[in-house]
Amino acid sequence: MKVRVQATADRQFATNSYLVEDEETHDAVVIDANLEPELMVELVDERGANVKAILLTHTDVDHVGGLPGLLEAFGSIPVAVHDSERNVVVEGKPLRREFGASTGPTENVVSLVEGEPFRDGSLTFEVLHTPGHSPGGVTLQIGDNLFTGDALFAGSIGRSDFANSDAASLLEGINAKLLSQRDEMVVYAGHGPATTIGRERRTNPFLR
Ligand SMILES: [Zn+2]
Repeated sequence: MKVRVQATADRQFATNSYLVEDEETHDAVVIDANLEPELMVELVDERGANVKAILLTHTDVDHVGGLPGLLEAFGSIPVAVHDSERNVVVEGKPLRREFGASTGPTENVVSLVEGEPFRDGSLTFEVLHTPGHSPGGVTLQIGDNLFTGDALFAGSIGRSDFANSDAASLLEGINAKLLSQRDEMVVYAGHGPATTIGRERRTNPFLR
Protein backbone atom coordinates (compact mmCIF):
# COMPACT_ATOMS: atom_id res chain seq x y z
CA MET A 1 0.00 0.00 0.00
CA LYS A 2 1.26 3.49 -0.86
CA VAL A 3 0.32 6.17 1.63
CA ARG A 4 0.25 9.85 0.76
CA VAL A 5 0.64 12.41 3.54
CA GLN A 6 -0.20 16.08 3.19
CA ALA A 7 -0.36 18.73 5.91
CA THR A 8 -2.30 21.91 6.46
CA ALA A 9 -1.31 24.34 9.22
CA ASP A 10 -3.42 27.06 10.81
CA ARG A 11 -2.04 30.58 11.15
CA GLN A 12 -2.69 31.10 14.87
CA PHE A 13 -0.85 28.10 16.39
CA ALA A 14 0.83 26.61 13.28
CA THR A 15 -0.76 23.30 14.25
CA ASN A 16 -0.60 20.60 11.60
CA SER A 17 -3.61 18.66 10.42
CA TYR A 18 -2.68 15.71 8.21
CA LEU A 19 -4.52 14.06 5.37
CA VAL A 20 -3.36 10.44 5.20
CA GLU A 21 -4.58 8.78 2.03
CA ASP A 22 -4.26 5.36 0.45
CA GLU A 23 -3.17 6.32 -3.09
CA GLU A 24 -4.93 3.31 -4.60
CA THR A 25 -8.34 3.35 -2.92
CA HIS A 26 -8.37 7.06 -1.93
CA ASP A 27 -9.62 6.02 1.50
CA ALA A 28 -8.24 8.56 3.95
CA VAL A 29 -8.24 9.79 7.53
CA VAL A 30 -7.56 13.23 8.95
CA ILE A 31 -5.18 13.39 11.90
CA ASP A 32 -5.92 16.32 14.24
CA ALA A 33 -8.34 19.17 13.63
CA ASN A 34 -6.53 22.49 13.67
CA LEU A 35 -8.30 25.85 13.82
CA GLU A 36 -8.60 26.27 10.05
CA PRO A 37 -10.63 23.22 9.00
CA GLU A 38 -11.51 24.90 5.71
CA LEU A 39 -7.92 24.33 4.54
CA MET A 40 -8.34 20.58 5.10
CA VAL A 41 -11.78 20.52 3.48
CA GLU A 42 -10.27 22.19 0.41
CA LEU A 43 -7.39 19.72 0.27
CA VAL A 44 -9.75 16.75 0.58
CA ASP A 45 -11.88 18.14 -2.27
CA GLU A 46 -8.80 18.65 -4.43
CA ARG A 47 -7.62 15.09 -3.82
CA GLY A 48 -11.05 13.50 -4.13
CA ALA A 49 -10.21 11.63 -0.92
CA ASN A 50 -12.82 9.61 0.92
CA VAL A 51 -12.32 10.62 4.57
CA LYS A 52 -13.39 7.75 6.82
CA ALA A 53 -12.43 9.00 10.29
CA ILE A 54 -10.74 11.75 12.26
CA LEU A 55 -7.93 10.59 14.57
CA LEU A 56 -6.75 12.80 17.43
CA THR A 57 -3.20 12.67 18.82
CA HIS A 58 -4.52 14.57 21.86
CA THR A 59 -7.17 17.16 22.64
CA ASP A 60 -5.54 20.57 23.18
CA VAL A 61 -7.67 23.30 21.62
CA ASP A 62 -5.36 23.78 18.65
CA HIS A 63 -5.75 20.08 17.73
CA VAL A 64 -9.54 19.76 18.18
CA GLY A 65 -10.91 23.27 17.56
CA GLY A 66 -11.60 22.47 13.91
CA LEU A 67 -13.67 19.34 14.65
CA PRO A 68 -17.11 20.95 14.15
CA GLY A 69 -16.00 22.34 10.78
CA LEU A 70 -14.58 18.98 9.63
CA LEU A 71 -17.65 17.04 10.77
CA GLU A 72 -19.93 19.47 9.02
CA ALA A 73 -18.03 18.90 5.79
CA PHE A 74 -17.46 15.12 6.08
CA GLY A 75 -20.64 14.04 7.90
CA SER A 76 -20.76 12.27 11.26
CA ILE A 77 -17.67 10.08 10.72
CA PRO A 78 -15.98 8.47 13.75
CA VAL A 79 -13.67 10.63 15.85
CA ALA A 80 -11.00 8.49 17.50
CA VAL A 81 -9.27 9.49 20.73
CA HIS A 82 -7.50 7.82 23.67
CA ASP A 83 -9.86 7.02 26.55
CA SER A 84 -7.95 9.32 28.94
CA GLU A 85 -9.16 12.31 26.91
CA ARG A 86 -12.46 10.93 25.72
CA ASN A 87 -14.54 13.31 27.84
CA VAL A 88 -12.93 16.32 26.22
CA VAL A 89 -14.47 15.27 22.93
CA VAL A 90 -17.68 13.54 24.07
CA GLU A 91 -18.73 16.23 26.53
CA GLY A 92 -16.79 19.23 25.23
CA LYS A 93 -14.92 19.48 28.58
CA PRO A 94 -11.63 21.38 28.88
CA LEU A 95 -8.46 19.26 28.73
CA ARG A 96 -6.54 21.70 30.95
CA ARG A 97 -7.66 23.59 34.00
CA GLU A 98 -5.44 26.39 32.63
CA PHE A 99 -7.72 26.82 29.59
CA GLY A 100 -11.43 26.79 28.82
CA ALA A 101 -13.37 24.24 26.78
CA SER A 102 -11.93 23.63 23.34
CA THR A 103 -14.73 22.09 21.29
CA GLY A 104 -18.42 21.31 21.60
CA PRO A 105 -19.82 17.85 22.43
CA THR A 106 -19.13 15.35 19.65
CA GLU A 107 -21.07 12.23 18.63
CA ASN A 108 -19.63 9.01 17.26
CA VAL A 109 -16.46 9.01 19.40
CA VAL A 110 -14.41 5.80 19.29
CA SER A 111 -11.34 4.68 21.25
CA LEU A 112 -7.68 4.59 20.33
CA VAL A 113 -6.14 1.80 22.40
CA GLU A 114 -2.44 0.98 22.53
CA GLY A 115 -1.79 -2.38 20.92
CA GLU A 116 -5.13 -2.44 19.09
CA PRO A 117 -4.77 -1.45 15.44
CA PHE A 118 -7.23 1.22 14.31
CA ARG A 119 -8.77 0.21 10.99
CA ASP A 120 -11.00 2.19 8.72
CA GLY A 121 -11.46 1.54 5.02
CA SER A 122 -8.15 0.30 3.58
CA LEU A 123 -6.04 2.06 6.24
CA THR A 124 -4.66 0.49 9.41
CA PHE A 125 -2.81 2.44 12.10
CA GLU A 126 -0.85 1.09 15.04
CA VAL A 127 -1.58 3.02 18.24
CA LEU A 128 1.31 3.91 20.58
CA HIS A 129 0.44 5.58 23.89
CA THR A 130 2.91 8.48 24.26
CA PRO A 131 1.51 10.49 27.20
CA GLY A 132 3.22 13.23 29.20
CA HIS A 133 2.29 16.33 27.23
CA SER A 134 -1.25 15.21 28.02
CA PRO A 135 -2.60 11.98 29.58
CA GLY A 136 -4.09 10.56 26.39
CA GLY A 137 -1.34 11.52 23.96
CA VAL A 138 -0.88 8.91 21.24
CA THR A 139 1.43 8.39 18.28
CA LEU A 140 -0.21 6.88 15.21
CA GLN A 141 1.89 4.69 12.96
CA ILE A 142 1.18 3.61 9.41
CA GLY A 143 3.95 2.06 7.34
CA ASP A 144 7.09 4.16 7.82
CA ASN A 145 5.14 7.16 9.10
CA LEU A 146 4.74 8.26 12.72
CA PHE A 147 2.25 10.96 13.68
CA THR A 148 3.59 12.08 17.03
CA GLY A 149 1.25 14.93 18.00
CA ASP A 150 2.89 17.15 20.62
CA ALA A 151 5.16 14.43 22.03
CA LEU A 152 8.08 14.74 19.59
CA PHE A 153 8.90 17.62 17.21
CA ALA A 154 11.81 18.27 14.86
CA GLY A 155 14.44 19.52 17.33
CA SER A 156 12.14 19.67 20.32
CA ILE A 157 9.64 17.83 22.52
CA GLY A 158 6.21 18.76 23.85
CA ARG A 159 5.55 21.02 26.84
CA SER A 160 5.13 19.21 30.11
CA ASP A 161 4.54 22.15 32.46
CA PHE A 162 0.74 21.85 32.56
CA ALA A 163 -1.06 20.49 35.62
CA ASN A 164 -1.94 17.24 33.84
CA SER A 165 1.44 16.86 32.12
CA ASP A 166 4.24 14.55 33.21
CA ALA A 167 7.79 15.22 32.01
CA ALA A 168 9.11 11.80 33.05
CA SER A 169 6.47 9.82 31.20
CA LEU A 170 6.88 12.04 28.14
CA LEU A 171 10.58 11.17 27.91
CA GLU A 172 9.96 7.54 28.79
CA GLY A 173 7.38 7.18 25.99
CA ILE A 174 9.60 8.93 23.43
CA ASN A 175 12.57 6.74 24.31
CA ALA A 176 10.74 3.43 24.55
CA LYS A 177 8.29 3.74 21.67
CA LEU A 178 9.69 6.28 19.20
CA LEU A 179 13.50 6.42 19.40
CA SER A 180 13.51 2.62 19.46
CA GLN A 181 12.26 2.64 15.87
CA ARG A 182 14.35 2.54 12.69
CA ASP A 183 16.30 5.64 11.57
CA GLU A 184 14.27 5.95 8.37
CA MET A 185 10.91 6.31 10.11
CA VAL A 186 9.38 9.67 9.19
CA VAL A 187 8.05 11.82 12.02
CA TYR A 188 5.06 14.04 11.30
CA ALA A 189 4.68 16.24 14.38
CA GLY A 190 1.81 18.33 15.69
CA HIS A 191 3.76 21.49 14.86
CA GLY A 192 6.58 22.30 12.46
CA PRO A 193 8.30 20.33 9.70
CA ALA A 194 8.61 16.58 9.30
CA THR A 195 11.79 14.86 10.46
CA THR A 196 13.09 11.32 10.94
CA ILE A 197 13.71 9.17 13.98
CA GLY A 198 17.41 8.93 13.05
CA ARG A 199 17.84 12.70 12.92
CA GLU A 200 16.06 13.25 16.23
CA ARG A 201 18.04 10.50 17.95
CA ARG A 202 21.28 12.19 16.81
CA THR A 203 20.45 15.88 17.11
CA ASN A 204 17.41 16.61 19.31
CA PRO A 205 18.84 18.62 22.24
CA PHE A 206 16.00 17.58 24.56
CA LEU A 207 16.80 13.89 24.18
CA ARG A 208 20.44 13.89 25.29
ZN1 LIG B 1 -0.29 21.60 19.85
